[in-house]
Amino acid sequence: MFSDKLKNEIGGELQSMRDGGFFKVEKTLQGHAGTEIKVDGKKLINLCANNYLGTAQQKKVIKAAQKSLKEYSLGLNSVRFIVGTTDLHKKLEAAISKFFGTEDTILYTSCFDANTGLFEVLLGEGDAIFSDELNHASIIDGVRLCKAERFRYPHNNLEELEKQLIQAKGARRRLVVTDGVFSMDGEIAKLDELRALCDKHDAIFVVDDSHGTGVLGKTGRGSIEEKGVLGKVDIITSTFGKALGGAGGGFTTGKKEVIDLLRQRSRTYLFSNSLMPAITGAALYVIEHFNKEFLPLKKKLTENTLYFRTKLEKLGYTLGGGGHPITPIMTMDERKTMALADELLKEGLYVRGFAYPVVPKGKGRIRVQISAAHTKKQLDKAIEALEKAGKKLSII
Ligand SMILES: *Cc1c(COP(=O)(O)O)cnc(C)c1O
Repeated sequence: MFSDKLKNEIGGELQSMRDGGFFKVEKTLQGHAGTEIKVDGKKLINLCANNYLGTAQQKKVIKAAQKSLKEYSLGLNSVRFIVGTTDLHKKLEAAISKFFGTEDTILYTSCFDANTGLFEVLLGEGDAIFSDELNHASIIDGVRLCKAERFRYPHNNLEELEKQLIQAKGARRRLVVTDGVFSMDGEIAKLDELRALCDKHDAIFVVDDSHGTGVLGKTGRGSIEEKGVLGKVDIITSTFGKALGGAGGGFTTGKKEVIDLLRQRSRTYLFSNSLMPAITGAALYVIEHFNKEFLPLKKKLTENTLYFRTKLEKLGYTLGGGGHPITPIMTMDERKTMALADELLKEGLYVRGFAYPVVPKGKGRIRVQISAAHTKKQLDKAIEALEKAGKKLSII
């Protein structure tokens, strides 16, 4: 029974989150979520979406979604292995394999599902899994679900990782997993060195490149391309919810045997509805036309990012990251972070402040994410607002 005691207990938990400043308040947007959004009737510049290439608002992408919606209806009312696989799903899987030069691909309704449905299929008792301590929540959950011995290595610390690999040398299988891009700093993992280490210790190498796909590398193949390991990563997971469309959906791509086994055993694939046709069609459009229509936008994305960073550094802001459109504006102080976010909101900017426990204590920041779709006018307005608010709060 949902007793008064339980009600009070849960209420107390919520209150302590509010008291500690960890309570997340969601903003309700009116209408679409491009680079300009409307909240409470007020127009704001959106600086915190993962819409790196602006694909979610592009007419051709929306048209592709509409066409698939019309041809394939709203959904399949089924999981993939019953009646949920269409030629559209197979086409998208083939297109992704071609895009990365991998052998085969399996679709999921999110990258979260791709990650939680991966490790327990490949690893069991007697195996070992090594995960960077700053990996995404979905990797952490995926690791929790598998029965392999778990090693959490200090962030980007390959020496410690190697010690752990040696410690687990008796394991039947070893698997190392990392984010390609760590989202709080936009920092790129040392994928080349990790690959070498995995070779040395005979470990499977998995990269979740959700923030890298479509964004990094000369041809947009992601952090794996940027770090020279395209074609050398055993398993890649990524999302359609960022640069490749923005609606949702994810995938795992790699060796044929791995993908075949996932189709047989991956629980988030087997027991969840197939990917919505509209999203499948939109993602297929983006992948198939990537080189011609979307890759050129990367240049604008880089230009926008550099422009924004240069101006802010000139103003005296301390920035984290570099090399990725994720631009952390470091305020260090938790209270200043939240005050700056509030001040910027008043100035018409939609940004999010991140403070402890999302980031380490004393590493508070406003995380701005630049898009190729931001206009110079929008960026200038944002820079102006940051100057005004930063001075007001004595941050710069
Ligand atoms: C965004 C993100 C995800 C989640 O992707 P969804 O498709 O929205 O579930 C998973 N991993 C990483 C590293 C991400 O950045």
